[in-house]
Amino acid sequence: MYRTHTCGELRLADKGSKVTLAGWVQKSRRLGGMTFIDLRDRYGITQLVVEADSPAAAAAEELGREFVIQAEGEVIERESRNAKIPTGDIEIKVSAINILNRSVTPPFTIEENSDGGEDLRARYRYLDLRRPPLQRALALRHRLAHEIRSYLDAQGFMEIETPYLIKSTPEGARDFVVPSRMNPGTFYALPQSPQTFKQLLMVAGYDRYFQIVRCFRDEDLRADRQPEFTQIDCEMSFVEQEDVLSTFEGMMRSVFKGALGVDIPNPIPRMSWADAMDSYGSDKPDIRFGMKFNDVTAQVKGFGFPVFDAAEYVGAIVVPGCAGYTRKQLDELTEWVKRPQVGAKGLVYVKCNEDGSIKSSIDKFYTPEQLKALAESCSAASGDLILMLCGPRRKTQTQLGVLRIEMGGRLGLRDPKVFAPLWIVDFPLLEWSEEDGRFYAMHHPFTSPKPEHLDWFYSDKKEDLERVCANAYDFVLNGNELGGGSIRIHDAGMQSRMFEVLGISAEEADYKFGFIINAFKFGAPPHGGLAFGFDRLCALFGGQETIRDYIAFPKNNQGRDVMIDSPSKIDDAQMEELFLASTVKE
Ligand code: ASP
Repeated sequence: MYRTHTCGELRLADKGSKVTLAGWVQKSRRLGGMTFIDLRDRYGITQLVVEADSPAAAAAEELGREFVIQAEGEVIERESRNAKIPTGDIEIKVSAINILNRSVTPPFTIEENSDGGEDLRARYRYLDLRRPPLQRALALRHRLAHEIRSYLDAQGFMEIETPYLIKSTPEGARDFVVPSRMNPGTFYALPQSPQTFKQLLMVAGYDRYFQIVRCFRDEDLRADRQPEFTQIDCEMSFVEQEDVLSTFEGMMRSVFKGALGVDIPNPIPRMSWADAMDSYGSDKPDIRFGMKFNDVTAQVKGFGFPVFDAAEYVGAIVVPGCAGYTRKQLDELTEWVKRPQVGAKGLVYVKCNEDGSIKSSIDKFYTPEQLKALAESCSAASGDLILMLCGPRRKTQTQLGVLRIEMGGRLGLRDPKVFAPLWIVDFPLLEWSEEDGRFYAMHHPFTSPKPEHLDWFYSDKKEDLERVCANAYDFVLNGNELGGGSIRIHDAGMQSRMFEVLGISAEEADYKFGFIINAFKFGAPPHGGLAFGFDRLCALFGGQETIRDYIAFPKNNQGRDVMIDSPSKIDDAQMEELFLASTVKE
């Protein structure tokens, strides 16, 4: 046995025990004739003390950072206790040290906080992973996966693996492809999700499926995405939307309770997509705070302010307690909304001063009474600041939504320890692309239209098709879309119609999706499901913004793994064997 205890285990009650520990030397320092060593493993840190006359003194002198050692000794009470660590009341009086392995000097400090930059730590990910914050992150990830599996198992779900080498399943992103050596000139695609397979499992009668599964999407990696990421992928048969929502509300409730001890609202609130857009300008609203939109279009038009008069929509948010914003702050905010990331043309403000007076950037066009009436209709109190944007309806709402999030952040209203889950329902089925002059599926092409909208679905008019709502839903947590799914089409004819609406020809549909259309001819049960982003779930549970810390070996923003230096070239022979020729100029 290499060790009798871990480095996080011993307490005062163990005083007098003879123990053997094994781990990494985090620090070693000499004081008087004694050497103090912080020995670390993933369970914690224990202090070792080697006295000058100890048989281990010579070995102790040799130790450097990250040496792997085995230390034998007696648990004694510590004179100067360290309340910061659970083992802080004791130390080990060492009688023997066995150096199991040496280490070159690590490129950065391996402690709670490291002095290494992101890139350096990524290159030595295995050293970064020795740090407690990353170990806690991966432990949380494990805990969550465990909670999820046990909940779903108890509900009768079976975990079934689906292949990674498949034919492309469109989820709106680009596929990663893999050349087939045995089938010259052809390619597999890596799954963007197991969507079609889980539906085929429903046809096959496995009526409750789940899988914690890797998915691959070749996207530009803005906004904290990873080219390979993990989903909790689920599908159920003989269900309606309500059944799916209640099953997975149950899962979320049990995971929150099990992993964090947190009770989330019961039931989880629901909001239609249209309400989410009208009130928050986002299909993933952060409802940890208010600042809902006020549609003031009708109220502000017709007073000679040309910008408002010409606008389809004028929306206002009330920022509590910010009437004291200075000219400089308001100018800065105006510049902020004009940045391309927000895209507004300008910002109108109305300050509801503490003394009851009103000051605004549109004083020229509106009387104080009119502005007071506006403030009242927005339920603004004295001390509040009203911010307004105008323009085309949905576009302006989206911009106002970005501004709202920014103001919520500035006011500290987005506390990572507060969890505000929400279902968004009644999504439009289709999204028109002006650029391509065609419809795209808002969720994916297997999502069913609401039964009450079938007349529109089969209509040839664009306006009718635009009105069709889907049996689709998203799970939103603190402004993040954490999951989404739908009740599927299970009828071959309706699926063909969907492809037709999407402008996918019968031949193309048959080439790409013949297998699923065909399967639906053999008694496909009504079914539906959803998938949650597991990496994001872990990060949110850990109170972090970025998913990278919750993935053992993530890629950087360029999609590179700088530790193993991938992607990389393959040699000519390998290229030839795969029937590939590169067009990249050296
Ligand atoms: N396959 C979908 C996705 O990855 C989820 C689902 O519809 O179940 O977003």
